[in-house]
This record gives sequence, structure tokens and C-alpha cells, in this order.
Amino acid sequence: MAGPELLDGDAVQAWMVEMAQAVNRERDRLTELDAAIGDGDHGVSLQRGFTAVRAALEAAPELPGAVLLLAGRTLVSSVGGASGPLYGSALRAMGKALGDTQGADGKQVGAALAAARDAIAGLGGARGGDKTMLDAWIPAVAGFESTVADGGSLQAAARFAAGAAEGGADETVAMEARKGRASYLGPRSVGHLDPGAASSVLLFRALADAVG
Ligand code: ADP
Ligand code: MG
Repeated sequence: MAGPELLDGDAVQAWMVEMAQAVNRERDRLTELDAAIGDGDHGVSLQRGFTAVRAALEAAPELPGAVLLLAGRTLVSSVGGASGPLYGSALRAMGKALGDTQGADGKQVGAALAAARDAIAGLGGARGGDKTMLDAWIPAVAGFESTVADGGSLQAAARFAAGAAEGGADETVAMEARKGRASYLGPRSVGHLDPGAASSVLLFRALADAVG
């Protein structure tokens, strides 16, 4: 099925709804991943956050950038811990990058995703290889941008990004955590999938589902 050429406000709404549903489905798995190397709240925190996002979006603005700004603000205010501010800043940076466009093409979405990745890095101070959500975001954004640069559609780019996010998340298993709560475990963090990387896979899959 051919999806829309542009990411408009409705598509962003659909993205957030898909993500909320994915987090509901995967809550227990995310929480178990976090219980192994963190404090076991990741699934519950994100469920609270994206449930709040859905509620906030019922009176949603129409422009995709404005929808993302509202979603990001809602995550920051409803989720404690590391991931609320990180995801919230990411979505806000995306919204800001989209500005007042009615519909963003692949190139604009790629640039906005890059701004989101940079916001996560800026706020959390992590780099690739530190065993955080960035290890999913970095290959996902690179894959999105390279697909668009090769002439791929928004749908193709989003699908490719989701696969790249999954590959990046899988690589966190072998990494030792250098940021966030898991870093307190040192070498004992090796052998576990990073929960934030796992939830980032859900976010990129939700985007692919929303535009596809
Ligand atoms: P908390 O650790 O405060 O309980 P969550 O459990 O909701 O927060 O989220 C944990 C996830 O947040 C980690 O798995 C990791 O992906 C991400 N994270 C934590 N600290 C950082 C950081 N400094 N930079 C990027 N991501 C981080
Ligand atoms: Mg936690």
C-alpha cells in the first residue's frame, strides 16, 4: 500500500497513537529489560507518558511540527526519570525543525530526526557505543537519511530506519553501559539489551506503520 508522500499533522498523530499502542503491548518486556540493568520502570513510565500524549492530542493542533511540540512537552511533564526528558526533547526538537510546514517530505523528516538525535545526545551527553537509546537512534537516522538521499520514499526511509534501529539496539547487548543508571553496574551491564534502545525501536516501527 502506498502511503502519503508527506508527513502531515494526521500522520504524526497516527505515529503517536501507534507508539502508545506499541508501548501498551510491550510494557512488561520493557520493564523486564529495565529491571535487569536499571530500576524496572521503563515500560510503566513510557506507558504513562504516551497515554498522556494521546490524551493531549485529542485537542490536537494541525501542523505536524506543532503536534510534535505538544507531544514532547507532554512527555517531559508526565514521565520522570531519564527517558521522559530524553524522548520529550527529541520530539520537541523534531517539532521545532519542522517549523510551520503543512507536510514534511523525506528530506525534511530526515533533518528533523537528526535534530531529535542531536537533542538526545546534547541532553544526555552520551555517544554511540555507550549502551543507550542513541545506539538505536544513530543508525536509524543515518539509514533514514541515506534512503532519502538515494531517492527512496518516506515509507521506504521509515521502514529502513526501523530495521536499522533494531540492528543498533541488538548491538547494545554486547556493550558496557557508560551512561544512565545501567552504568552503575559497569561490566555487569554486558549481556543485556538496553531498554531505551528497545523502546526506540518501537518508536521507529510506529513511524513506519504510521506512514506505510
Ligand atoms: P531511568 O534510568 O531514570 O529509570 P528509564 O528507565 O525510563 O529512566 O530509561 C532508561 C533508558 O534511558 C536507558 O535504557 C537508556 O537508553 C536511556 N538513557 C539513560 N541515560 C541516558 C543518557 N545519558 N543518554 C541517552 N540515553 C540515556
Ligand atoms: Mg528505569
